[in-house]
Amino acid sequence: MAQDDKISRRSALKISLSVLPIAAGGAALFSACGDSSLDCTDVSGLSAEETATRTNLEYVEASPHGEEKDCLNCRFYTGNESQCGSCTLVKGPINPRGYCKSWVIKA
Ligand code: SF4
Repeated sequence: MAQDDKISRRSALKISLSVLPIAAGGAALFSACGDSSLDCTDVSGLSAEETATRTNLEYVEASPHGEEKDCLNCRFYTGNESQCGSCTLVKGPINPRGYCKSWVIKA
C-alpha cells in the first residue's frame, strides 16, 4: 500500500511537471497576442461626427504594429490593458491593442 502511494505521488509529480510548462507557454502566448476577447466596437452612443472621426483616423481594434505601437502606449489613451479604455481624439470604446493614424508615443 505504501509502495502504491509512493508511485502514485511520483506519477502525480511527473504529470504536474510536464503540464506546467505547457500552461505557462499558453499564458505567455495569450499575453503576447493581447486580449482578443475584448470587443471595443460598440459605437451606438456616438454622434455621426464622432463616428466619422473614428473612421477618418482609421481606428482599428488590433494594431498592425503589434505592441510596439498600440493604444496602450499612445499619449492619448486612458485606461489599462484589461478593458476598453478611452481616447482624447477618438471617441467611443478603445481597445488597448488598437491603433489609429494619430498614434503618438506616450511621454
Ligand atoms: Fe489609439 Fe489613436 Fe487614440 Fe492613440 S490617438 S489612443 S492610437 S485611437
